[in-house]
Amino acid sequence: MKFCVVGSGIIGLSTASELLAQYPSADVTIVSDKFGEDTTSNGAAGIFRPGGGFSVVGDTTGAIRKTWLKDSWDYYNAVCASSEAPSLHGIKSVSGYMFSSESDLTKNDLLSDVVPTYRSATEDELKICPGDWKYGSYFLTLVVDSQFHLKYLRAKIDGRVKIYQTKLNNFKELGKYDYIFNCTGLGSKWLCADDKVVPIRGQVYKVKAPWIKMFFYSNSDTYIIPGMNTVTLGGTRQFDNYNLQVDPHDSAGIWERATQLLPNLKRSDIVREWVGLRPYRDGGVRSELEIIKDGSKQLKVIHNYGHGGYGVTFAPGSCKYSVKTFTESHRGIWKLWRSKI
Ligand SMILES: Cc1cc2nc3c(=O)[nH]c(=O)nc-3n(C[C@H](O)[C@H](O)[C@H](O)COP(=O)(O)OP(=O)(O)OC[C@H]3O[C@@H](n4cnc5c(N)ncnc54)[C@H](O)[C@@H]3O)c2cc1C
Repeated sequence: MKFCVVGSGIIGLSTASELLAQYPSADVTIVSDKFGEDTTSNGAAGIFRPGGGFSVVGDTTGAIRKTWLKDSWDYYNAVCASSEAPSLHGIKSVSGYMFSSESDLTKNDLLSDVVPTYRSATEDELKICPGDWKYGSYFLTLVVDSQFHLKYLRAKIDGRVKIYQTKLNNFKELGKYDYIFNCTGLGSKWLCADDKVVPIRGQVYKVKAPWIKMFFYSNSDTYIIPGMNTVTLGGTRQFDNYNLQVDPHDSAGIWERATQLLPNLKRSDIVREWVGLRPYRDGGVRSELEIIKDGSKQLKVIHNYGHGGYGVTFAPGSCKYSVKTFTESHRGIWKLWRSKI
């Protein structure tokens, strides 16, 4: 059986890795126009924190979203507990605070269900950082530094998959594959003519500040998240904005807000600034099998795109679900074939 995974961000690489874990002798090809540092996934801060608005098409009860979150949490923790060094997989435990002066946006029922600690900040804790913080939460979670984790996933599958660098214009170009996994993020806007896919532009600083061990969030999309070697300072959330250039006004705003929250960041060394377009999909992540007719042939495409600002958080769980979609579809076809003989 021949599989093609389109896309090599965290969703594409996690899919290929899960496919090979479930079907070790599978014939897997990855087709992608960008790899590694050129993907959106590579620059993500990588904190394991789902947004309350994250949803999946057809998931009316929220059960799928919950399963993806739990499966992802279990996967990342299992990697952490393995004998492999954190410098390889890029996953580490972090704790920190979320503060707000406007309304209590610091609660997160989805996350508090899976992490070991999630509680309100005490009166004393609300005074840790400068600002008039009225609400706050403290929690323990993980950071999956994508720069490291993408390399880790690549190392797991290299030598076991074929890789082609090319831009796909139509799934019909992939007629020789039995199943296609579409993990193209924002690219699905054009590849699937899906107008519900919209970028949410995010700009960040990556700085050297090894003394920062905790994460901090506050109003106006301000966040400080320590990764393996650098700390990510953010950010922006600009809907339907395609600008991949660093905007000096955004830079000034991010720097001001981050250093107000943690003044000692003024001593940090700036490594780089980065812009990424979060692949948001209005109506939720599209995770389903589509049969595309191509003459007498039928292309089986399993979509998995539109994770917005939470693709690192949900990658392992959503990719496990895609591979399960393949297994169930294939079992159905096999049963049909058996019933005819
Ligand atoms: C500033 C910022 C901070 C973030 N922080 C976090 C965070 O802390 N936690 C979190 O969970 N998430 C975070 N995210 C979100 C996360 O980065 C995304 O949800 C995730 O990267 C989406 O992964 P993906 O594999 O779908 O997309 P991508 O990484 O964009 O990968 C898509 C792949 O498809 C390929 N492709 C697209 N179209 C085609 C085509 N036509 N032909 C061939 N190949 C194609 C691309 O080349 C690429 O390889 C952040 C995002 C940004 C921008």
